[in-house]
Amino acid sequence: MKRREFLAAGAAAAAVAMTNIELKAEVTDSTWDGKSANQTAKARLCLGSQLGIIPGNSVEEKFAKMKAWGIEAVEFGRDVEDPERAKYYKKLLDDTGLIPSAVCWGSHGGDLMSFDKDRKQRGTDALKRALEGAGIIGCTGVIYVPAFNGQSPLTNQEMRKMLLDDFPALADFAADCGTHVTFEPLNRGEAYFLRQVADGAAIARDINERSEKKCGMSVMGDFYHMSIEETDMMGAFISGGKLLTHVHLAGGVSDPRRTIPGQNKSRFVEGFRGLKYIGYTGPCSFECGVRGDREVEIPKALEFLKKEYELAVI
Ligand code: MG
Repeated sequence: MKRREFLAAGAAAAAVAMTNIELKAEVTDSTWDGKSANQTAKARLCLGSQLGIIPGNSVEEKFAKMKAWGIEAVEFGRDVEDPERAKYYKKLLDDTGLIPSAVCWGSHGGDLMSFDKDRKQRGTDALKRALEGAGIIGCTGVIYVPAFNGQSPLTNQEMRKMLLDDFPALADFAADCGTHVTFEPLNRGEAYFLRQVADGAAIARDINERSEKKCGMSVMGDFYHMSIEETDMMGAFISGGKLLTHVHLAGGVSDPRRTIPGQNKSRFVEGFRGLKYIGYTGPCSFECGVRGDREVEIPKALEFLKKEYELAVI
């Protein structure tokens, strides 16, 4: 085959492949019209944390410490799959006046992105238990990663299709629980599929469109992963728009890597500009290491972030 014929054959094959992909959504489907998009007046900084980095010998002590430091929101882990544990957390929140943010859940070993029916069912059942726990507590969402590198044999195209096929029902289940399934885009070192906030938002949007309730999926942004994958922190958060329900706070790759804000070179002003622009009021939650004395370093980080937020003028 001559080179020209070879190229023509390739183009024809690509055209056939394209027709097999559903390309339905249009930019005009978005209610985010770009004209009235600057929602800065509505925005506020709500600082939160996972429990792991907070000093304390018990959950009660950690909650008390967070309250004393002015941390508003608590991020939970997979133990909320136990409804009794979820009820316990709910009572503790009510007693302390802290608010719930998200449940950090992960990929369940990539089980939901498997062609093995039993494996997929195990993952689905566990995600449903987490969504029920999140509902009991009042969490904004259950943070979900389709698959870390090496956890699923599916290609990117197959994984997107599986999400669109399987997740409308899970999105409706989440909505019935009063919460979301929240995609977390990761950097390529952890996951090749789903690496940017805009991509997570687009998949969440497409699943919502296929679902009955239209609102069970959302997306989040993690400053650490974003520092590796995004070309523009402000633009990335704007891409999340109304689908953005959670944020993870951590410095980027400079030493010390993925540390508490203020301990490495990473700045947060550009990202905060994006959060202000979309009127984001949801939690921004520590998911990071801390170098040094936590009793000293965590309050310092809180003050650093408040100053970064003030500097984020649009
Ligand atoms: Mg994260």
